[in-house]
Order: sequence, then structure tokens, then C-alpha cells
Amino acid sequence: MTAPILRNLGDLRDLTRPFIRAGETIGVVPTMGALHDGHLSLVAAAKARCDRVIVTIFVNPKQFNNPDDLKNYPRTEVEDARKLARFDVDALWVPEAERMYPPHFATTVSVAGLTDVMEGAHRPGHFDGVATVVTKLFTQTAATDAFFGEKDYQQLLVVRRMTRDLDLPVTVHGCPTIRDIDGLALASRNLLLSDRARTRAPALFTEMERIAEGLRQGGDLETLATRGRARLETAGFTWVDYLDLRGQENLARLDTPDRPARLFAAARLAGVRLIDNIAVNDQVAL
Ligand code: AMP
Repeated sequence: MTAPILRNLGDLRDLTRPFIRAGETIGVVPTMGALHDGHLSLVAAAKARCDRVIVTIFVNPKQFNNPDDLKNYPRTEVEDARKLARFDVDALWVPEAERMYPPHFATTVSVAGLTDVMEGAHRPGHFDGVATVVTKLFTQTAATDAFFGEKDYQQLLVVRRMTRDLDLPVTVHGCPTIRDIDGLALASRNLLLSDRARTRAPALFTEMERIAEGLRQGGDLETLATRGRARLETAGFTWVDYLDLRGQENLARLDTPDRPARLFAAARLAGVRLIDNIAVNDQVAL
């Protein structure tokens, strides 16, 4: 059944009031639309766990530091609604930017520490935008549970930190990254890749896997990363923003994976910025 598309907060509150009264769990899947199987895996996880499920679609202007990126971000609402039909969710919450951030809106939720590195360092203001909108989405939807992808691992940690720090009554669930058959992590921005760039894009994951395997074999991070960067450039990537090994709990930079660690990368291919991360060693004995 096609879920109702709600655009007014009053309508959303009318929907959730009986759910809250009945003590039902409300699972929320925040997205920016242009839905793909990665998003749909979060919806499936929410459906499996919660009595009610609300999918939000909001291209949040506050989390874009680059106006062209915001302008070019793919928007496919009709198609998104069609893809969600088989999940029988309770609502699509599609607020308008002018109502989300009316004139005189003056509040920012800002998470320190975790946001100093990687996406936070390369996209000033990005995580303030994320934390602010996620706080609003949680309260608007009366979420008891929320589902986020490990694809945006730093975001997942930031949302967890913020939820704990602010005592938001929401359980944050992290879900594994869904990849295309050639290894490329699914992402809405992949739609912006030309056919030629799309054939080259999986090199990012391939090189990350190669580095992770090298580290598992005791290889030196700097040597492995230097070779990886060079191979990415050969594959057509014009800029590698970062290729970092970091602790999976606190994102502290590591030289060797002597504790649970992930490899993180952001790189540009034909004008499209791709990010990815993979676990290096889930099972390190501490
Ligand atoms: P976005 O629409 O890109 O803001 O993503 C919305 C949610 O979907 C975030 O929690 C993302 O981490 C998650 N997500 C995006 N791509 C994937 C993927 N390939 N696999 C799993 N989750 C994803």
C-alpha cells in the first residue's frame, strides 16, 4: 500500500498521537531521498523491529557546505514513494525547508570532538546541520528507534553521541553498508556519475580492501596508503580528501590496527565526491 506523504507537522502529529497513546514503537529512517537499496535495507530493519515506521525525506540545506552540491543533489520523490510501497510504512515525512527552518530560526545542535576530523574537517558546518535536523526529525516523529547506515559511519557516531548527551529517548541502530555487485557503496550521488566514471568508481572500495588486507598482514599504513592513492589517481580519481585508519569507537587516528579499527576514505571522481569506510579488524583481542 502506498504510504501517505505528509508535509505538515500537524498532520504528522495527528498520525503519531494514537501510536504514542498505544505505547507502540516508532522507527524512523532519516534520508535525503533518491532512495536506493541501502536506504531500503534501513527501512526493512525498521519494519522488522518496530510497530510503526516513518521514512523521512528531506534534503537538508543546513548540512550542505557547497551550494552546487545542494542544487545538483538528486530529487526523485515520486520514484521514492513507489520504491517504498512494498514496505507498507506508516508515512513518508517530507517537510518543506521553509517550515523546517522558518525566519528567525536560531538553534544549532553541535557535537564536539568526533566532528573535528574527516567529513567535519572537509565540510565545515556539515555535522551541525546533521545534528540539528536529526534532533528535529526525532522530536517531530516521536521516534523511539532510528536507523542509520554505517556507510556514513562518522555520522552514525555523531548521532549516537548527540542522542546520549541530550537524553533523547531514541535507540540508534547502525546498519551495514549495502554495495553494488562491483563493490561500490550505494549512494544517491552515484546517480551523478557519468557511465565512464561509474565503471571507475569501484576502484575506491578495491583499494580500501587492498589496504585493509595489507594491514591485516602487518604491512605499513603509510606505504600502503601512498600506493593506494597513486592507484586511485591512475583510475581517474582527481583528489583524495583523506584515507585514514581510525579507531571505530572514537575515530582516533591509528598507525596500526591494534584495536577495533576502520579505514575511511573520501575522494573525488569526475566532480562527484564519494565516501566509504570498511572494518579492518572487528575481532582484535585487546
Ligand atoms: P542519505 O540519504 O544519503 O542522507 O542517507 C540516509 C541514510 O541511509 C543514512 O543513514 C545513510 O548512512 C544510509 N545509507 C546511505 N547509503 C547506504 C548504503 N549504501 N548502505 C546502507 N545505508 C546507507
